[in-house]
Amino acid sequence: MAVFRCDCGKGLSNSRCPNDIELILFTDYEWDSIQEKVHEGADIYDFEPKYDVWRCPECARIYVFKGVSLLYQYKLEK
Ligand SMILES: [Zn+2]
Repeated sequence: MAVFRCDCGKGLSNSRCPNDIELILFTDYEWDSIQEKVHEGADIYDFEPKYDVWRCPECARIYVFKGVSLLYQYKLEK
């Protein structure tokens, strides 16, 4: 569980599960590999994305974290 303050001022938290803040993001290659492994019997919940991706519901900014470090931040242009 974590909290983060968006640049717009909105407080973001992933303390509730499920929530509308976290995005589960895989590349198409990763998703293809996961689907194959799940088809072979693996549990889908054993796979975690490489990055934690959060989206602010107020301004739609996207934050990409690796562990506790913020790697990228995107602001909506249109
Ligand atoms: Zn925001």
